[in-house]
Formats: sequence, C-alpha cells, structure tokens
Amino acid sequence: MSQEHGSIEAFPESLELTDDDSVLQIAWDDGHTSRHRLDVLRAACSCAMCQGHHPSQSLNLKPEQFPGIRITDIAPVGRYAYHIVWSDGHDTGIYTLKMLREMESTA
Ligand SMILES: [Zn+2]
Repeated sequence: MSQEHGSIEAFPESLELTDDDSVLQIAWDDGHTSRHRLDVLRAACSCAMCQGHHPSQSLNLKPEQFPGIRITDIAPVGRYAYHIVWSDGHDTGIYTLKMLREMESTA
C-alpha cells in the first residue's frame, strides 16, 4: 500500500539566503523551517551530469569540493521544484520540493 498520495504536501512560503549567503533557509507553509548548507545542496545535485544514469557514473560529489559555493539564481519550476544556478556555472540542477523537504537540515 503506497502512502505517497496521502502525505501532507507542504509548500515553501519563503526562501532566504542566510549566514553570509552560505545557507538556504526555507519556511514551509506547515510551520516547518529547513536550513540547507549550500555546499551540501550543491553536492546533492541529482541532475544527470552529476549522478549519471547509473550509480557507476555518479561523480560522487562531496560538500568539501564546493567551498564558498553560492546561488546565482533560483527559480520555481511549476509547483514542484526549484531550478538553481550555482556560482560555479552549474545550471542543470533541479531540486524538487520533496527532496528539499526530505533532506536533513544541515545548518
Ligand atoms: Zn548537477
């Protein structure tokens, strides 16, 4: 039995860069606040370039590889994800709300 469609769908009310622009803080409409270090978020990029189409192709990115990474641009994709452009020029990352919500707060 799948519970996937029975879960509460929280939606971000606001996104804010904090801690000298090194942390993305998301305030969800159910009152939860999640905080994500940008280097952790960048390393977690799930795009085909970073993760490949098979685990053996994954670049195995680590947060330590992105010291001082910044968000250049962030834009909503429909109502399910955000497209993030990074200061290292990487611009194919899509971060779904589900992924952001389920990621542990890292800051
Ligand atoms: Zn990527």
